[in-house]
Amino acid sequence: MIIKPKVRGFVCITAHPKGCEQNVLDQIETTKRRVNLPNGPKKVLIIGSSTGYGLASRITAAFGSGAATLGVYYERPPANNKPASPGWYNARAFDRNASKSGLYAKSINGDAFSDAVRQQAIELILQDLESVDLVIYSLASPRRTVPRTGETFKSVLKPIGDSFSGKTLNTDKNEIYQVSINPATENEINATKKVMGGEDWELWIEALSERGCLSKGCKTIAYSYIGPEVTWPIYKNGTIGKAKEHLDVSQKRIQNHLSLIGGSAWVAVNKAVITQASSAIPVVPLYLSALIKIMKEKGIEEGCIEQINRLFVTHLYTGSQSGLDPEGRIRVDDWEMREDVQSKIKELWPSLNTDTLYSLTDYHSYQTEFLKLFGFNHKMIDYSKEVEID
Ligand code: NAD
Repeated sequence: MIIKPKVRGFVCITAHPKGCEQNVLDQIETTKRRVNLPNGPKKVLIIGSSTGYGLASRITAAFGSGAATLGVYYERPPANNKPASPGWYNARAFDRNASKSGLYAKSINGDAFSDAVRQQAIELILQDLESVDLVIYSLASPRRTVPRTGETFKSVLKPIGDSFSGKTLNTDKNEIYQVSINPATENEINATKKVMGGEDWELWIEALSERGCLSKGCKTIAYSYIGPEVTWPIYKNGTIGKAKEHLDVSQKRIQNHLSLIGGSAWVAVNKAVITQASSAIPVVPLYLSALIKIMKEKGIEEGCIEQINRLFVTHLYTGSQSGLDPEGRIRVDDWEMREDVQSKIKELWPSLNTDTLYSLTDYHSYQTEFLKLFGFNHKMIDYSKEVEID
């Protein structure tokens, strides 16, 4: 069939298999050019491996360090003449290209919050790899059903305490408007912590450890975000920020546990990038459009793959622990948070409106990169041609 983008709000409901494969190939090429880690990870489990930071982590481990990888993700396969979700195509493309390069790659498409998927991953590790030396936790999900109790929690993106009123971007209409969001209830705060906090990360590490799946010296890492003041009411000081605080608490507990086998647990604070998860957060697409322009002008703009390449090369596998913040987190958002970048954001922000959107920000790149997430907008792909969706 011929597949065209169909954007509905902050998602595109179609995806192009060839374009998604091109995204994976581009990230593989970037990694091959930039990363060569003879002492890097060799057997890696990536939870949330099909898009965004998780996919970039899988590609970096495999093509920058020759690692065998097991990926876990939750993606929609093609059905009823409808294309799959982009992560499904990405994962297929990754597995195919890793195998071509002689790298072990297996994937589980299922709910990572469930005990069943955890057990499936453990059995595969024991059968094929014996153990893993790196566990990446990179889930971004709107809901979680807690195993054992069966209770389902839904995360929300809301401020805490006071209502938030501020500028945001309607990416359907290309308009900047004032949004007002009521504060979260106590239940909503707790639910967001349940979904996006560290509880499930801890469950994974406990289960893997109990079955002897963690190699001596095993590392684990989860991703966080802090960002600038313009996003704080909705991010750092909001419900998602509370969940990320919980992730920091889990990191300390996991660190204690892993120290028994000489291992380590990390939280990396990453840069804001365009992913399916970040495009759903109020204010963030507008902030990103401004940020991309400023960082490009300074020659320091990075996407997921550049961020994760740098995380592996300059932090995780150098043997040095430089660049940690007072809370012990790795900061790969250091370029985003540079004073010269953030002062420019502050200066621009009051002038941002629908009329200045294209001149004062790089909204054009935001739109291009957003569609690329779904496999569209690649110059070398002829989108007028029929393509197999399965
Ligand atoms: P993303 O939407 O691109 O990827 C989410 C991944 O989680 C996908 O592989 C998806 O299949 C998987 N997933 C979701 N629910 C699942 C489930 N129930 N079972 C199995 N897999 C499931 O998201 P992202 O932006 O790469 O975010 C990953 C992490 O990075 C999050 O913790 C996020 O907070 C953090 N982070 C993101 C940014 C950003 O700007 N995007 C910045 C800093 C930190």
